[in-house]
Amino acid sequence: NPTLAVSDLTKGYNHGLPNEVNVLQGVTLSVEPGEVVALVAPSGAGKSTLLHIAGLLDTPDSGHVSIAGTDMTQLSDRKRTAVRRETVGFIYQFHHLLPEFTALENIVLPQLANGVSDKDAQARAMALLDKVGIAARGSHRPAALSGGEQQRVAFCRALANEPSLLLADEPTGNLDPETSDRVFEALLDLVRETGLAAVIATHNLELAARMDRQVRLSAGVLEPL
Ligand code: ADP
Ligand code: ADP
Repeated sequence: NPTLAVSDLTKGYNHGLPNEVNVLQGVTLSVEPGEVVALVAPSGAGKSTLLHIAGLLDTPDSGHVSIAGTDMTQLSDRKRTAVRRETVGFIYQFHHLLPEFTALENIVLPQLANGVSDKDAQARAMALLDKVGIAARGSHRPAALSGGEQQRVAFCRALANEPSLLLADEPTGNLDPETSDRVFEALLDLVRETGLAAVIATHNLELAARMDRQVRLSAGVLEPL
């Protein structure tokens, strides 16, 4: 089974009003385990809407979302939330780290919430920080880290609970171009190493070209790039 399969998704806002916006008009996409898909879309095309639906944070007006072969649109909200917590990791353009906690703690906390022991959570957090090259920064709070380091911590946090699907919305979009390149490389290495299925939205066609497959969201549908 593909890790993620969305089919014929439609989603609109302002239903019935004169300014109704039909953002998704029949979106179909399938992502296999270990496959990294680049999602390219002009601003306002519906990229965030699609990622939120694929990540079970939002529901489509019609169409289906399957995770590892199970149709999520048939589940109760509670079950969908449980699957999301177990299966999906999110990365945003802005890291949303908790400012009063250290880098390490930001990666440990979601694991504790998931029932992992403190010892195991600390060990996994350290291993993840090491993989993205900032093991020495674990005891720093986000404000003491550079933008690139903060995003690396956010990558580690997204992978802390060993999701099978990673959804990233412009994960290096707030960094200067040179830093963005290096941090993006660290993310791709991490994703490749864990064998995750991933959908990574980016405006940067060079970064997109480094992924396995490229799709463009345009006029409410996906087309190969
Ligand atoms: P992108 O991430 O590609 O910039 P979004 O998915 O955020 O696009 O938004 C796509 C379109 O849907 C935009 O026109 C946006 O204004 C509209 N939109 C997004 N969310 C809402 C909402 N909650 N209510 C009304 N319109 C929305
Ligand atoms: P949990 O349900 O696992 O306690 P949350 O629901 O707070 O956690 O969030 C899970 C993930 O989804 C986090 O990465 C969080 O930032 C993101 N998230 C939650 N709600 C929204 C939302 N409305 N829009 C965008 N991202 C969200």
